[in-house]
Amino acid sequence: MDLSQAVHELTRPHKTTITRDSGAREYVSEDSLLDQLRGEISSSGNRSGVGANRYKVPLALDVLDLYQSIARTAQDLKAAEAPHAKTTGTIESIIQAWAAATTRNEAAERIVSKWCEQIHALINPPKKIEINAPCPQCGNRHTMNEAGDINLALVATNGVVRCSACLTEWTGAQLWNLRDAISYSHAS
Ligand SMILES: [Zn+2]
Repeated sequence: MDLSQAVHELTRPHKTTITRDSGAREYVSEDSLLDQLRGEISSSGNRSGVGANRYKVPLALDVLDLYQSIARTAQDLKAAEAPHAKTTGTIESIIQAWAAATTRNEAAERIVSKWCEQIHALINPPKKIEINAPCPQCGNRHTMNEAGDINLALVATNGVVRCSACLTEWTGAQLWNLRDAISYSHAS
């Protein structure tokens, strides 16, 4: 993602591709990521009832932390690299003014892409799917974590399968090999 594209997603309504639960992909419009982040803060603040709050409060704190850290960093970057640029005072306009003026394009691109990723990770946490099959690499079906809990070793998260016993990862075309290896060991 280049800098202008990353700034666009972060600060303006934009088009994006989403995958429905049915697997269908759709091209839709969505609010800026900063707007979505603010939406998480206000929706969690408005929930009432103990059950709703218990889960929402820690998320709201993470969201608030991230929002404040983006705001602070953006103000510092703007002050350092675009001190004379005019803004309307919103975080969006501060980020846009800094991104338009910065001469450190690659560094800026990394910073803004990281913000986009962090917001995505908070508002759409990755779906984890455990695979009940032995790892073709190390043969373990289960692993134990430090707390002594036993879990399935192979876990799929957003298109990457990882074995928590031997730390092997499969992604992209390797997933086909993994699938073959797993169905082979099922059959035997
Ligand atoms: Zn393994």
